[in-house]
Amino acid sequence: MELQAPDRLVRLAVDLVNTRTRDPEQLNAPGDVRTFLLEHGETEPITLDESDLAQVRAVRERIRAVFHTEARDAAAVLNELLEGYAVRPYLSDHDGSPWHLHVAKPGATWGDWLAAATALGLASFAAGHGFDAIGTCAAVDCERVYVNPAERRPRRFCSPTCASRTRVASYRARKAANPST
Ligand SMILES: [Zn+2]
Repeated sequence: MELQAPDRLVRLAVDLVNTRTRDPEQLNAPGDVRTFLLEHGETEPITLDESDLAQVRAVRERIRAVFHTEARDAAAVLNELLEGYAVRPYLSDHDGSPWHLHVAKPGATWGDWLAAATALGLASFAAGHGFDAIGTCAAVDCERVYVNPAERRPRRFCSPTCASRTRVASYRARKAANPST
């Protein structure tokens, strides 16, 4: 539960929200959250029960709002999460581990930690790149979220796949409306 590099925390936030879009829910059991955490650099022991699963899903929905609302509301959501879950950072070398930073309370649940870590990641990202760089895919049948650190290239889609799918669809729509062109 240590503090990871800021870009990893942003990735954690994006991937957490994208565990439920229009695709089937990916966090169906405590073991799914465990797999998600392991895939995002957390290490054993990771133990979770049904109440952790419910809390992680609830945190996910609060973080999702950051990607869907305008800057002032998104900032308010992040500030609420930081106030509720993040603590003054502190160094620890517990259990013989190398010195590392903690941003959640001692004894925090995985849901508490995810709330603190993803809010901190998105807050630093927004401070560096602006809330315009945090968004939801513009493709019609996609609800995946993204962050765009490349400031000179505005972005509307979660992936090249959604961008080209949308281009092809609008080309076909133009063709159908105006077959002679
Ligand atoms: Zn998409």
